[in-house]
Amino acid sequence: MLATLWLVALSSLVAAVVFAWRHEKRPPEVLYQEPGWMPAAKSDRWKCIVIHHSASEEGGAERFDEWHRKKGWDELGYHFVIGNGSDTADGQVEVGSRWAKQKWGAHCKTDDEFYNQHGIGICLVGNFNGHPPDTKQMQSLARLVGFLSREFKIPPSHIYTHGGVTGKTQCPGKQFDVELLKRMVAAK
Ligand SMILES: [Zn+2]
Repeated sequence: MLATLWLVALSSLVAAVVFAWRHEKRPPEVLYQEPGWMPAAKSDRWKCIVIHHSASEEGGAERFDEWHRKKGWDELGYHFVIGNGSDTADGQVEVGSRWAKQKWGAHCKTDDEFYNQHGIGICLVGNFNGHPPDTKQMQSLARLVGFLSREFKIPPSHIYTHGGVTGKTQCPGKQFDVELLKRMVAAK
């Protein structure tokens, strides 16, 4: 009799432990991100993402920063640059100096300046009129855009290309496939 009671008590205890373990509050899924992607203080200005190519086969944030300053701009106009193995590693994401400050961009001029004021500018190194971005660049871009979309509540319909919004440039090149990017982001 006593042994039966003990057995009942023991199995109840085991059941309780298993129940507690199963219903344990799971930590939220950790979003993939790299150092610098999350600014110290998030701005609520960001409404869309604008993709660019450099139209050059070589480059990186430092070189483009020089180019942009020579044009008389304040600093690198993009918020992020994704390397192609020339100045930086293939698929390496560089965080531009504006991003930490959550500062407006200088990458997508329109009369109302909407895309510079509210668009996060990402530039992939390469000229995608001649060839598409390589796999590592697209994977990094999808991870970055996925992170930014979720953190700043930017829907897929607000992922744009430079030429797509201005109609005045082929940037980011005829072989850049924005629909492929959206599918890659959605799959993550
Ligand atoms: Zn562009």
